[in-house]
Amino acid sequence: MPNYLEIAVAAPIATTLSYLLPQELEHESGTLVGRRALVPLGKRRITGYILAENLPQETLQKEGEKSFVIKKISSLLDDAPLFHPEMAPFFRWIASYYLYPLGLVIKAALPGGLTVKSGRQLEMIAEKDDLLAALKESEREKLEKWLAELLEKGKLSPAKTAALLQKNTAARQINRLQQAGLVACRQIMQKDTVGSRKERCFYMDSALVEFFRNDKEGGLLPLSASADELRPQIKLLKEKLEAERGIALGLAEVRTLATLASIIFSASSDIGEHPDIPAKELFQNYSGARKIVEGLVEQGLLRQYEKRIFRNPFGGLLFDGSKRFQRPTQLSAQQENALAAITPAVYAEKYQAFLLYGITGAGKTEVYLRAAEETLAQGRDVIVLVPEIALATQFEGQFVARFGDKVVLQHSGLGPAEKYDQYTLALSGDARVVIGARSAVFAPLKNPGLIIVDEEHDSSYKQDDSFRYNGRDLAVVRASLQNAVVLLGSATPAITSFAHAQSGKFTLLEMDQRIGDAILPKITLIDSGKEQRMLHGSLISEILLEKMQANFTAGYQTILLLNRRGFSNALLCVQCGTPVPCPHCSVSLTLHKHNRSLICHYCGFQQGIQTVCGQCKSEKLVPAGYGTERVEEEVAALLPDAVVRRIDSDIAGDRRRFHSLLGNMHERKIDILIGTQMIAKGHHFPFVTLVGVLWADGGMSMPDYKAAEKSFQLITQVTGRAGRGNLAGEVVIQTLRPEHYAIQYAQKHQYREFFTHEIELRKTPVFPPFIRLVLLRLQGKVESRVRDGGSTLANFCREWQHTNTIRMEILGPAPSPIDKVKDNFRYQILIKCAGVSPLHTLCQELLRKDREILPSGVTLSVDIDPENMM
Ligand code: ADP
Ligand code: ZN
Ligand code: ZN
Repeated sequence: MPNYLEIAVAAPIATTLSYLLPQELEHESGTLVGRRALVPLGKRRITGYILAENLPQETLQKEGEKSFVIKKISSLLDDAPLFHPEMAPFFRWIASYYLYPLGLVIKAALPGGLTVKSGRQLEMIAEKDDLLAALKESEREKLEKWLAELLEKGKLSPAKTAALLQKNTAARQINRLQQAGLVACRQIMQKDTVGSRKERCFYMDSALVEFFRNDKEGGLLPLSASADELRPQIKLLKEKLEAERGIALGLAEVRTLATLASIIFSASSDIGEHPDIPAKELFQNYSGARKIVEGLVEQGLLRQYEKRIFRNPFGGLLFDGSKRFQRPTQLSAQQENALAAITPAVYAEKYQAFLLYGITGAGKTEVYLRAAEETLAQGRDVIVLVPEIALATQFEGQFVARFGDKVVLQHSGLGPAEKYDQYTLALSGDARVVIGARSAVFAPLKNPGLIIVDEEHDSSYKQDDSFRYNGRDLAVVRASLQNAVVLLGSATPAITSFAHAQSGKFTLLEMDQRIGDAILPKITLIDSGKEQRMLHGSLISEILLEKMQANFTAGYQTILLLNRRGFSNALLCVQCGTPVPCPHCSVSLTLHKHNRSLICHYCGFQQGIQTVCGQCKSEKLVPAGYGTERVEEEVAALLPDAVVRRIDSDIAGDRRRFHSLLGNMHERKIDILIGTQMIAKGHHFPFVTLVGVLWADGGMSMPDYKAAEKSFQLITQVTGRAGRGNLAGEVVIQTLRPEHYAIQYAQKHQYREFFTHEIELRKTPVFPPFIRLVLLRLQGKVESRVRDGGSTLANFCREWQHTNTIRMEILGPAPSPIDKVKDNFRYQILIKCAGVSPLHTLCQELLRKDREILPSGVTLSVDIDPENMM
């Protein structure tokens, strides 16, 4: 029986294609679904993903007339599947919902670099002697270098293999050995050797630990002492140890054990079950131990093992023993209630969606952890999505502390090799919990029983270019396809999510009390328009300044937040008021003082600050507006004794500097930290007792129906940064619109009231959750063509709507709010419709015909459920 395959190729093709498995590959063992194949497409050969095999004849793709023949695949690129067959329906769903080519969906779901980094490796599959026997006398004598290496190592690197296969004689020789079944060319994934995930650790058995613990006089070595100074103490220890154990020991061996004990006891009085010490640390304290450890291991005095390590952003261990993150013995009543609803759902193994609305500090993380425990106990896997923050935080640390080696992390701070490692661990089932940003929704876990989305309202769940999916929404979809529970958590649920909770689509769980005695911070509103200091150009009001001073004097830390989105610190012409624009985008350039340049935040264009006004040629240009750099300057002048530091995306690009700044913040070496909203997320600084939002209006004037929602969320989120330890926190919000409802409700911690107000406003003009949105984006280098393309497209939509008598609102075409980026002019059309299916039908039609309808050089992209209207 010929085996026909359904393959999604990694190219912009809407449908899957049928191919035939050639006879020589029929013996391939194992399932083919989930493997990649190299397939002919037109004149090219490209990567395809196998989605189904043994297709019945009648379902095969037919193209044109009878003469159409189904082509054979050229080769299989993997020995084993890269995804489980369970993923196929999920991928299909995504492709049809987001109108994005299936092959490209799968490509995006797999770890990057896979396609380019695969290679063929020559391997010895027979015994060495058999291989030698198969070689002619002459060949054996002048054994070629590659053969020698193959015999010695059993394999050749893909680079060497590729080079050899280029050479005729070698290729012929290899071919002969291959025929004889002595060597094989195997497709493998090549990995970079970035960092290692494991670390050698030592631990002593507990009797030995007890021995050192009880030996009051001699048990602890002063670690910094010299060998001579230590000798008497070691001799003494040696006698006692030998007596106790009945064995003979060398001085160096005793010193090794004693050093290990000293490190253990100096680290903490509370040592867990496994007081294990990294080899590195032991050798640092006593380099002589290197030669000794093997013997000690042999004698059974020491045990060693490879421990998986997770480095935290601060360079230290994210997880050391179970010391830092204890499992609470007692849950709060609200945690109990939430779990009483979630646990049975997990055990039912049926789809159910929960919205966990819990204020900051209510203890949502512990609810996630317990629900995950139950799921693992059920034998099912767990996926946890967190907002994109570029590094591992304490949140992830808690999962690692609880589930150890079962956890893998996926965040953008990992290199490609590490990402690949994490992926294979999850694929093989060695890891059972995957934590990561939006793309972790594609985690290759076989059987997820629980998918958690923390901070479900966060806009970073939506990918904002080419494949515009929403990770939060896909979490719900995947859960429903795999009969899993999905748990969305937030202190400020998205309006749409809360509406789903009200309509019953999601089950609402509420936690409105902070753990323990902690109370929500007090929020003070400052009317920036009435503040004397601010009217005179300062960024910091009198009241905020006083509080900062008092907080600094008391020895606590302050965070100042400046959400710069949509507003930049531009260079403005004094004569005519024009800001210096980016020559490639329709935004003004941002002044960066530290490197004396003007930078475009959209395309990265950079120029010196010596320039003239493009409008009136005046040379008088002055900095205008706010920017974190300017805040830093002002604060440093106002509080000269305080240590003031700044974190924003300029700095976050330099990971090491970023990490060290966060580390210093944790160690309280920084008094005042200034940053954009990236410091408002995820971090937990127990000594931050004051948070100032310098300009709360930034997001509110955006042409975005979610502007108020985002402002409310931002304020609530930063509020959560204050007073997270045992200390009470305080928040100061500076705004030009203190009366605005989003700010008013945020000040009073009134989410429900905000929701009620906001949902009313979404009825006219109508916006989600009452309708569905699609944004059609057009771009091209020639403005008139893009504009014409917009009109043509809008007309097409209107006609289509008319012919099909569908109620739709078609807005536009209009230039996008940022109407030029990287020399591309941008127009957009917004379509509203009560249901998503007519929108899909229309967009499919558009994508089929766009080449015909649109002027050349104009491209269309379709954004389903758009988040970013810019
Ligand atoms: P949220 O995510 O809801 O803002 P967290 O999960 O960070 O809140 O919890 C707030 C604090 O309360 C954390 O320091 C956490 O360790 C602590 N905590 C959570 N649950 C408990 C509990 N049952 N007993 C004691 N402390 C708890
Ligand atoms: Zn001017
Ligand atoms: Zn630009």
